[in-house]
Amino acid sequence: MSAENMLPVQRDDASAAFFDAAAEGRLLVHQCPQGHLFAPQISTCPRCQSTELSWSEASGRATLASYAVINRRGQSELPVAIVELDEGPWIRMQLQDVSTGDLKVGLPLQIRFAAPEGGEPLPYAVPA
Ligand SMILES: [Zn+2]
Repeated sequence: MSAENMLPVQRDDASAAFFDAAAEGRLLVHQCPQGHLFAPQISTCPRCQSTELSWSEASGRATLASYAVINRRGQSELPVAIVELDEGPWIRMQLQDVSTGDLKVGLPLQIRFAAPEGGEPLPYAVPA
């Protein structure tokens, strides 16, 4: 895997725990006091509107929920996905190590991490 297609992202106080875990290959999602799980970049629970957030570790297993293939002039195709984690939350990320002809909704995926030059480690998905 290369991180060449990933834009560097910098941490802030709200995302520090996420990136610390990502550096260890662990994916964190947000959890509200009622136990609803949702994507790490969302700061209000979409089900109960709570803003009291904690982190919960996800398994790293997911399935492909939706995808698009970006065709860039003179460069390789770039598959971008919405993945559904086994725990429920949907997260947008890049797909790697898969040919675009093999993409289909429901494809089992595994989450991995790569750090773009000058940025924090970010999740991406490969076929499981
Ligand atoms: Zn909630």
